[in-house]
Amino acid sequence: MRQAESRFGFFAVLILLIQLPVGAQSANQQSLASKEVDSVYSDAHALYLDLHQHPELSSHETQTAAKLAEHLRSLGYEVTEHVGGTGVVAVMKNGAGPTVTLRTELDALPVEEKTGLAYASKVRAKDDAGRDVPVMHACGHDLHMAAIIGTAAIMAHSKDSWHGTLIIIGQPAEETIGGAKAMIADGLFTRFPKPDVAVAMHVGNTLVAGQVGIVPGIYNTNADSLKITIFGKGGHGSAPNTAIDPIVIAARTILALQTIASREVKPGEMAVVTVGYINAGTKNNIIPDHAEMGLTVRTRNADVRKQVLAAIDRITKAEAEAAGAPRPPEIDHYEGTDLVYNDPALAMRMKVVLQVALGKDNVVMEEPITASEDFSYFVEQGVPGFYFSLGGADPEKFAAAKASGTMLPSNHSPLFAPDVDPALHIGIEAEVAVLRNLLSGSADDLRKGIAEGK
Ligand SMILES: [Zn+2]
Ligand SMILES: [Zn+2]
Repeated sequence: MRQAESRFGFFAVLILLIQLPVGAQSANQQSLASKEVDSVYSDAHALYLDLHQHPELSSHETQTAAKLAEHLRSLGYEVTEHVGGTGVVAVMKNGAGPTVTLRTELDALPVEEKTGLAYASKVRAKDDAGRDVPVMHACGHDLHMAAIIGTAAIMAHSKDSWHGTLIIIGQPAEETIGGAKAMIADGLFTRFPKPDVAVAMHVGNTLVAGQVGIVPGIYNTNADSLKITIFGKGGHGSAPNTAIDPIVIAARTILALQTIASREVKPGEMAVVTVGYINAGTKNNIIPDHAEMGLTVRTRNADVRKQVLAAIDRITKAEAEAAGAPRPPEIDHYEGTDLVYNDPALAMRMKVVLQVALGKDNVVMEEPITASEDFSYFVEQGVPGFYFSLGGADPEKFAAAKASGTMLPSNHSPLFAPDVDPALHIGIEAEVAVLRNLLSGSADDLRKGIAEGK
């Protein structure tokens, strides 16, 4: 019965869409939706300020998860905590229909906030290596959480506007690429209903606040993290002939690694090899016995990924051998995640939905980015994904930066500060529009529509 009614509703909207000029129809819907967001905005904004001032490092998001769980429980969601560590799963069943999941990350970064904002984080914590580090929500995950709570509230208060099962996921440890995997291993898709579609949003400074961005198909990159230890022979800095200098081997290796992208990978294919840190030695007149370096590798094509990783292995070992190192280097490939793939049909459907919700000019088609994200683990479980960007840049600062040929601080910068109002407002509005559309027909129709590219 519900489905018949809602199908009627769907056709009524379709007829409206055909009859009214998009602008008029869209403006109407926009003002209604905007008022709905107003009704939950102050709570969402208060949560944002609280989370921003109390950030927690990856896998240590205990207070953050508890806050999210409490909010979702009070809205009537069935909440399970400690899924894959600190993960939160909140389910709201609302009759027959599709199952859709909306995910936020919980974690912050070891970055010292330098925004000068009144609500800037002053938090310090011990990292997993026992070091005292500053902590900041420098990736905007606090904004994602605040938006998801606003969205969850609107969906809970308007159950006549959708049907099916909505699952809100609070995922730990995105920044260390471990949380999604851990949640899946802990039964995310077996203990809870497996979604027909997974949705997530990320704020950034490449779009102005008020806009959202869509990338159909490949959204970002495969990411691999490597720790390389090069072994030498320690000795006195004044007598290099008695030693084998691992710093010189590391320096040669770093330069040789740069030829992978420039000389080995086919021109036009994307490959990034960055050595993000190098640690060696303690004093100017001592030749140390080892050097350590950390790499991030980004690719799009699976074969190129294999090629680049193999080349790193080959070059690193050969440089050590060429220098007469006493033993081969250790190459630890400790993290790896696949790129996020946006189902193209789903992305194009959501483009129309977001254009109607936010206005045509506020939906931008974007190029794939080079960052990475473990949302890909959900997609790999056979769940079509829609991952979209939320503009966070202050429009005036954005225009000034563009005019002067510079860029606003990116995510992970100590200066990253999204323009919360309107970004948070628009984020909630966009999420609600996407969820209502996905939770409007039957699960079969949704799956079929995606498979057939409708
Ligand atoms: Zn990040
Ligand atoms: Zn992030």
